[in-house]
Amino acid sequence: MSDCLFCKIANHQIPVNAIHEDDQSIAFPDINPQAPTHLLLIPKQHFADVTAAPAELLGNLLETAATLAHRELPSGFRIVINTGSDGGQTVHHLHLHILGGRPMHWPPG
Ligand code: 5GP
Ligand code: ZN
Repeated sequence: MSDCLFCKIANHQIPVNAIHEDDQSIAFPDINPQAPTHLLLIPKQHFADVTAAPAELLGNLLETAATLAHRELPSGFRIVINTGSDGGQTVHHLHLHILGGRPMHWPPG
């Protein structure tokens, strides 16, 4: 989508400090980190949210997020997918938050 911020990041129209990149996805630091480590993993193809993406892609994204998180945050992490207005989603291109580097609270706010 031409007016989508994360599409522009995914295709390098906007410069990105990629922590991981493959043919399906790219990961980079969140601009407004909520933990000492806060990464975003996004598919290169545009899907508005987790309900719109095919299962095969979701599996690939979760596996990639887990591998990345385990490498960057060996003492633990949280993977979050905010969805819709009650879910707190502000960017309407599917993204997985990977958070860690401090103990996480439960329940989340
Ligand atoms: P959401 O609230 O939709 O789950 O998460 C969107 C995330 O994208 C937020 O954590 C926000 O800080 C991050 N974000 C928004 N704009 C940019 C940007 O231009 N660059 C980066 N790296 N992160 C962004
Ligand atoms: Zn997009």
